[in-house]
Amino acid sequence: MKTRSACILCGSDHSRVRFEKQQREFLECCDCGLMWIDPLPTRAEVEARYRTAYSSGEYAPFAQAHEMRSLISQHRIERVLEVAQSGRWLDVGCSTGSFVAAAVRAGCVAEGLDISREAVEIARESGLLAHHGRVEDFEPTQLYDTITAFDVLEHSPEPQAFVKRLRGWLRPGGTLVLTLPDLRSVYPRFLMGRHWFYFWPDEHLFYWNAETVTRLLRDAGLNVKRISRSHKPLSLDYAARNLENFNAILGRIARAAVGVLPDKLASRVFPLYLGEMFVVARAVPGPATDPIADQMTDGA
Ligand SMILES: [Zn+2]
Repeated sequence: MKTRSACILCGSDHSRVRFEKQQREFLECCDCGLMWIDPLPTRAEVEARYRTAYSSGEYAPFAQAHEMRSLISQHRIERVLEVAQSGRWLDVGCSTGSFVAAAVRAGCVAEGLDISREAVEIARESGLLAHHGRVEDFEPTQLYDTITAFDVLEHSPEPQAFVKRLRGWLRPGGTLVLTLPDLRSVYPRFLMGRHWFYFWPDEHLFYWNAETVTRLLRDAGLNVKRISRSHKPLSLDYAARNLENFNAILGRIARAAVGVLPDKLASRVFPLYLGEMFVVARAVPGPATDPIADQMTDGA
């Protein structure tokens, strides 16, 4: 664990404690609005978690929910195809490969990269091209036209190095698509405050909004083209079960609430907005554009 009070994004020393949760302070930069947990786990601690996260840890129920994963991936591929370049694709944090599979089904030449050997082996068993390794070490043989990283950035202990690596793997003009929790969404601001399920130590380390993620990407040589709301198609019973991973009490309340619904309704899939953003950026040389003015247009 290491304590870091200076903002990694803007360098400001002015941070304040917004709240505490699970023995972690949530710090907010008073100048740029970036939030992070303090103390932050080290990279080695983060990597140790992922070694077993799939077989025994908190990702196990999610990894097993193949049907839900493929629904989410199908939803994502439809959105990504609207903005992405054809050619070679890489999904960073590909997990067991459901998005890579959806991309291949859509006719793309897609491969994945994941830090979890267990997840990569599952992806390979389904015939997908998946690389096992860390973003810091991976050396692609060719540049990519499109790189996706769904729900990954918030887990990175070194987000600047992370996006710079991804930028380096894109050809000029290539597209980067991210999804991540949005600090300006209605959940942390109005509905749930610090009880928002995505305020999740020590899984989610840095917390972004449209402006801070735009700055992060611009500093790495990427121009943000669009930021919109991201939905996940989920059934209510599945969402309630997963909520227990984030917050045991809220999860139990949600399961009890879903438990009184008719089976048909509880298992029906809805596009749920959980407070995530969908970010599209391009690796284009030249001055950065300002997407903030027309951000948060409603996505699918
Ligand atoms: Zn800052």
